[in-house]
Amino acid sequence: MRNFNRDTAQWQELDRDHNVHPFSDPDALGKQGVRIITRAEGSYIWDSEGHKILDGMAGLWCMNVGYGRKELIEAAHEQMKQLPFYNSFFKTSHPPQIELSRLLSEITPKGINHFFFSGSGSEANDTNIRLVRHYWDIMGKPEKQTIISRHNAYHGSTLAATSLGGMEGMHNMGGKGSSLLPGFEHIGQPFWYLEGGDMTPEAFGLKRAQELEEKILKIGADKVAAFIGEPIQGAGGVIVPPSTYWPEIQRICKKYNILLIADEVICGFGRTGNWFGSDTFGIKPDFITMAKGMSSGYIPISAVGIRDEIFEVLNSGGEINHGYTYSGHPVACAVAIANINYIKDHNLVEKVRTESGPYLHAGLQNLMENHPIVGEIRGRGMMAGIQLVKDRATRTTFSGDEDAGTICRDYCFKNDLIMRAVGQSMIISPPLTISKSEMDELFDKAKICLDATAKDLRLM
Ligand SMILES: *Cc1c(COP(=O)(O)O)cnc(C)c1O
Repeated sequence: MRNFNRDTAQWQELDRDHNVHPFSDPDALGKQGVRIITRAEGSYIWDSEGHKILDGMAGLWCMNVGYGRKELIEAAHEQMKQLPFYNSFFKTSHPPQIELSRLLSEITPKGINHFFFSGSGSEANDTNIRLVRHYWDIMGKPEKQTIISRHNAYHGSTLAATSLGGMEGMHNMGGKGSSLLPGFEHIGQPFWYLEGGDMTPEAFGLKRAQELEEKILKIGADKVAAFIGEPIQGAGGVIVPPSTYWPEIQRICKKYNILLIADEVICGFGRTGNWFGSDTFGIKPDFITMAKGMSSGYIPISAVGIRDEIFEVLNSGGEINHGYTYSGHPVACAVAIANINYIKDHNLVEKVRTESGPYLHAGLQNLMENHPIVGEIRGRGMMAGIQLVKDRATRTTFSGDEDAGTICRDYCFKNDLIMRAVGQSMIISPPLTISKSEMDELFDKAKICLDATAKDLRLM
């Protein structure tokens, strides 16, 4: 153990004095005191009070192979000794970056064989925006600039990624939408449970996809560069679009000559039971964004994957004036290679599709049967959302003081389970390596927390 031996109260005090946390109210958090996580192994994390906590969120959707894997740790160690850094700007490259792009071309959807590396999902999406506009400029259509996204989409937190995403709270920070970049438009999300009303999911999926066509016609197809979407919305609440949605989006993009970007930052690397969510939903993207599970969060790395036909155009367009110091960082590439090999060697993608994913969803469905406040279980593979509702028959959600999500999340904390609350949904996204007995523990703990929440809301 390194020289980090303070007690919890000291950590909390120092944290309050010096640490500004992402997506947190600093004053409220300082008063409450943060939880200090000190170590992890497999599917569990430990806090400074010695609690062993089941990590139902895989860190932040990223720990696909679980914690403590020596293959990834040793890959980083070896690469640091051999070549800890070199850039890929000066007509140079290095073996880990080359090997990683080769491996990615094997596992990404057919036709995606070119990769541009960065350090985070946000930077990769910034890269998408720049490359998409560069593409249309080379094609002689520089007015094709606007990128269409969806309300409640998450594409990252840089200024461009925030503008691209559809998170209202983020848009309003710094002055009610006025601080955003121009050139981004949003359409409705395919969230049937809360927004579908009396329509069937299929009719609603079609309707939400056709909002893209309406938007394109309103702006003018000659001004629209691309559409971006997560195959399954993650941070928005694990929202699985109805089966009619993606085929219609695909048709509209093709009809109006609009590029399609699949943001695979969460869905990629096995989470939905295929290497990429595009495979699960039959999407044929021109660009894909990957990060998180790419290195299972052991080290920051991300990439943009580019379709062959698109790259051919970029290849003919002169210099690409874009890049980051850490584009293709050798240590990060070495860890990503070890991560992909770990997923392959342990057959994790197939296991998610045929064993662990079905087990997770069967267990959650079982939990839902007759539970008064669970309205639906959504998701695919190792990704699930539990929709909390006040009235199952009418799909009426909680409102005002009845913040079921926060109440349930607090019970999860007390019961040593990490589940995240997104509005009135509880989110589960465990390591792909989670065992059946660990999932049983997750179901038992989730039931305790749901029961306690229902009792607090006097619905049980
Ligand atoms: C997390 C996430 C991002 C942003 O990734 P960062 O590494 O946090 O910048 C982008 N898109 C999706 C779908 C994400 O879930």
